[in-house]
Amino acid sequence: MSEQYDLVVIGAGSGGVRASRMAAATGAKVAVIEDMFLGGTCVNVGCVPKKLFVYASQFKGHIEHASGFGVDASFNGFDWSTLKSNKDNEINRLNGIYESILEGPGVEIIRGRGTIAGPGKVEVNGKILETKRILIATGGWPFKPDIPGGDLAMDSNDVFAMDTLPERIVVVGGGYIAVEFAGIFNGLGCDTQLLYRGDQILRGFDNEVRRFVTQEVAKAGVKIRTQTDVERIEEDGDEKICHLSDGSTLRCDLVMMATGRKAKTSNLGLEEAGVELRKNGSIVANERFETSVPGIFALGDVIDTPALTPVALEQGMVFVDQQFGEGKRTLNYELIPTAVFCQPNIGTVGISEEEAGERHPGDIDVYTSEFRALKHTLSGSSERTLMKLVVKRSEDRILGAHMVGDEAGEIMQGIAIAMQAGATKSQFDATLGIHPTGAEEFVTMR
Ligand code: NDP
Repeated sequence: MSEQYDLVVIGAGSGGVRASRMAAATGAKVAVIEDMFLGGTCVNVGCVPKKLFVYASQFKGHIEHASGFGVDASFNGFDWSTLKSNKDNEINRLNGIYESILEGPGVEIIRGRGTIAGPGKVEVNGKILETKRILIATGGWPFKPDIPGGDLAMDSNDVFAMDTLPERIVVVGGGYIAVEFAGIFNGLGCDTQLLYRGDQILRGFDNEVRRFVTQEVAKAGVKIRTQTDVERIEEDGDEKICHLSDGSTLRCDLVMMATGRKAKTSNLGLEEAGVELRKNGSIVANERFETSVPGIFALGDVIDTPALTPVALEQGMVFVDQQFGEGKRTLNYELIPTAVFCQPNIGTVGISEEEAGERHPGDIDVYTSEFRALKHTLSGSSERTLMKLVVKRSEDRILGAHMVGDEAGEIMQGIAIAMQAGATKSQFDATLGIHPTGAEEFVTMR
């Protein structure tokens, strides 16, 4: 006897869990199918463990900076296995929380691999579930370029599971994951090289931010090589030898490929069901998350919207509102705040100076402030902070806010609220600063 559901979700990551539990809370009969871990990339091999690693990597610097404040402290080493096992324990705890937040509203959790078995049918563990709606929320997976010896390189999933911390590390790529892990390894004391095939890391971010963060990350100790790619990797005992595009070689103990992620859409029965996919494997879905097949929906990293946890969470909310609620909720893709937890952090919301210039030629004002944070007047660090506002002159409206510096992610959340509310530069100027902070620069730029 097959069962009848209102919604069957394949994938219990950020988007799938949110959609499942919110749908179940409306009284719908919901099952979520997962063949790996509850919480998906973010909880298990992404945002959460990454941020814990970032914290770990900052202590050595904090201790070095302490003497200027009269503190007698010394750094006596770092134990990767302690960090890894504490991180694993915390993730187990979060997996348990995810289980209970699904079970609370009555979502049925099915461990296994779900595949589409026809219109309104999902097969899992040899059983067919019948459902009014199928939601694909299977997320993404690290992508490694197909080069000779590519298997000798790790990806971000492997690094989270690594038992020992190597001494010399080559990180390949210039995106979020590459710069974040380069900062982590560097802070933990590894000799860290970042190799990027283009001219400037962090393509897509404001160009001034890219230049500034490159300078600061390099000052912190990461060796950045641009216009350089790895063409082949060889093994020599425990060492890896990277053969680079400029003809040189580089010996190290670990190569980490941080060369992007791809949608996880294979072996789900999507092609057989007639669901349209893009060349890169992601699912084509409209703003209602409808795929090319009625009754099959998709959201999160598996479609081509920004691969960010808060985006997937909000998509889950909008989907449930559209299918089980009033259908009033929308998602503003123009104003997605984001942070890159490189060191120093980048925080950004809205568009870059370059994009603003293209959209509104001759109608843009740019305000920047670059300074040494108060803390570093005594810490001995030469780290600097950059803040920037991009304004549409004719409307006085803030189109982009960007920061590189301590706690940029924390600061940018409040700025994002102001921009969501349509804040103007005059309103920023009329706002009193909180003194002495770095954040106050956002209201004192003239
Ligand atoms: P990104 O797409 O951000 O960066 C991939 C990088 O790899 C780019 O620099 C790209 O170069 C390079 N690259 C791609 N293919 C190759 C290749 N064949 N050879 C050499 N280099 C290559 O991917 P990430 O994996 O860093 O992150 C994936 C997504 O996950 C991010 O876009 C973000 O949405 C999300 N994320 C968010 C985080 C956060 O919120 N803090 C943290 C981590 C991830 P090029 O620029 O030339 O294309």
